[in-house]
Amino acid sequence: MPALTSPDASPAPAPPGAGRYAPSPSGDLHLGNLRTALLAWLFARSTGRAFLLRVEDLDRVQEGSARRQLEDLEALGLDWDAEPLVQSERTAAYDDAVATLRARGLVYECYCTRREIQEAGSAPHGAPGAYPGTCRRLTRAQREERARERPAALRLAADRSAWTVRDRYAGEYTGAVDDVVLVRNDGRAAYNLAVVVDDAHQGVDQVVRGDDLLSSAPRQAYLAHLLGLAQPGYVHVPLALNREGRRLAKRDGAVTLRQLREAGVGAGDVVRLIAASIPLRPLPGPGDAGRSGARLPRTAGQMLEVFDPEALSREPWVLRDPIEEAARVAD
Ligand code: GLU
Repeated sequence: MPALTSPDASPAPAPPGAGRYAPSPSGDLHLGNLRTALLAWLFARSTGRAFLLRVEDLDRVQEGSARRQLEDLEALGLDWDAEPLVQSERTAAYDDAVATLRARGLVYECYCTRREIQEAGSAPHGAPGAYPGTCRRLTRAQREERARERPAALRLAADRSAWTVRDRYAGEYTGAVDDVVLVRNDGRAAYNLAVVVDDAHQGVDQVVRGDDLLSSAPRQAYLAHLLGLAQPGYVHVPLALNREGRRLAKRDGAVTLRQLREAGVGAGDVVRLIAASIPLRPLPGPGDAGRSGARLPRTAGQMLEVFDPEALSREPWVLRDPIEEAARVAD
């Protein structure tokens, strides 16, 4: 009797997607950035995904910073599967996306200054800080008049005020959607548009980044939806804080790989410091049992052997004195 089910009736496994890290080249990466980059790599590699980089250089750029950032990521043992994508070379793709939205009547010119937006207050039903839609309602004559004063930014005519995404740690997260800027009034694509277009272009289906961007995820996912692009899964991870409880910044002293190296803390010690913060289990194996920290991973590859997303601390990583803390986990 013929078999009722053929051997290949089970669905083919989905092709693995990609994770990414997308730093802005505005200076050297600090420990908080490096930890997020390592986590993005660990999430991608532990789920069989490709790992990709993107240089988000549409905003403030420091000369030579992109190259230094890549060198630092390499020093930690990260690897990536393609040449990094550079946003300043992607203008045509952003223009196409705007044209797609415009063809659907979802784009309008906005002439508001920052000050006018502040003074106008929020939309009646929108979230605090949401653009009140002033320029959506301009008559043609008003538009022409304002166009003589200053160049226009382009905004999305959003047809809802909230959108829900799924985050690995935050769960179902609903956040505000408003008439986001798509193109700034200097003609450059705005961050939210560029991120969405580039994640789709790079085949990114897993977005791991700092949790300061969780509130941006709904408007980005909504934009992806409008553009007919797949929405990625999100993993927002806690940020690093300084001893005052404020977001870690370069001015907090020895916080970049190069600064730490000068103080005698090598890349392997930085990996250990980050591994201790996640926290990761010690590496299995005989040898230095009993010496605390002695078996913490020293490379990204070793981290991968003991990475467990469930173990990730949901609290911010507070760094009081990185040099002293690195010494403590070193041996
Ligand atoms: N370029 C952004 C940053 O460095 C990250 C954007 C993203 O991961 O979506 O903060």
